[in-house]
Amino acid sequence: MSGMRRRDLLAAIGGAGLLPLLTPISPAPMLGAAAVGSVVPTVGGQIVRPRLIHVAGGFRPVPAGYLLPAGQAGELLFAPQAVANGSTALGAHWAGDVVGQSRVRVLVRWRGAHGTWSGWTALPALPGGEGDASAALFRGPLYLPIMAVTVQARLQARTPSGLLLSNVVLSLIRSTDGSRRGAGRYHPLDLGRGVSVVPRDGWGCPTGEASPLWAPFYQTPSHIVIHHTEGPNGGPDAPAQMRSIWYFHTYTRGWGDIGYNYLIDRAGVIYEGRAGGADVVGAHAEHHNVGTVGIALLGSYGTADPPRAMLLALASLIAAVAARYGIDPQGTLGGVDGRRYSALVGHRDVYNTMCPGDRLYSLLPLLRSAF
Ligand SMILES: [Zn+2]
Repeated sequence: MSGMRRRDLLAAIGGAGLLPLLTPISPAPMLGAAAVGSVVPTVGGQIVRPRLIHVAGGFRPVPAGYLLPAGQAGELLFAPQAVANGSTALGAHWAGDVVGQSRVRVLVRWRGAHGTWSGWTALPALPGGEGDASAALFRGPLYLPIMAVTVQARLQARTPSGLLLSNVVLSLIRSTDGSRRGAGRYHPLDLGRGVSVVPRDGWGCPTGEASPLWAPFYQTPSHIVIHHTEGPNGGPDAPAQMRSIWYFHTYTRGWGDIGYNYLIDRAGVIYEGRAGGADVVGAHAEHHNVGTVGIALLGSYGTADPPRAMLLALASLIAAVAARYGIDPQGTLGGVDGRRYSALVGHRDVYNTMCPGDRLYSLLPLLRSAF
């Protein structure tokens, strides 16, 4: 994944519309100050600024947030937070400067209505080097058990060179129940060639075929970029994963919509991602979003192979996309930066990232040779 920077998004949408949603993560009031504990409901979830209740180690308050001096480790503990009924996943992000190779991890635990706390679980980090510089500021999504009614987060950091943190925000994602209240503003995809794509209404996208926070714009693609989503291999049902990813991209990452153009589940079902129909520009490969189609396989394929049904669906989708745009998957041609790339690339070919995982990446030559 990874895509455009927030300021690119603001430029793309004229700075309107999304701004209220971005307020919690724009240049920050001091962590633990005015707006702590506030909850911003969003479509399909809520954005929570948890209240800081304990600071340990080398963190010390400064006007801009909390500073961890070079060579030190520290921890921020946040108050338990009620989970809206039906929230099934959680992401985290924070503002601030990350200098050098600071290591930050966010741990969460949960409990049911009458239960005891679970153990602490680290939110998944995005793949190494993924995304733009701010990608270091995001963790998740993590899937919560359905019985979770309270969550608590703590943030641990270690830095060789200094770290300033502010505005830690949790995204609680409600993905159990697709609302299907889309306005049907854009037409879902029709790729032909016998390839069927589940439209956004079909996986319960909270805004259906509409994309009110990020209006679609269009460019005929010349390249196809393959990703994996880094989610679990298995876990919640695929439409629930789709809604979680949509929410995480839309609100937590602030892109206004899901970034990938298409996603494929382990059974080989193909889903429409970014709204707007064919030719719409997504947010999946920073600096290479324009002129590319982003296809993501649900799950992690660093050490595991994609199931056969998934690979067959990927091959048929590549074939349909290639036919539609006259792309030769075995060809090589110039990308938006003027460099030449294979027409069918892995995300790592155009960006410093592990995506789409070693196993899936190793299958790209086979996929190219299938045409
Ligand atoms: Zn990727």
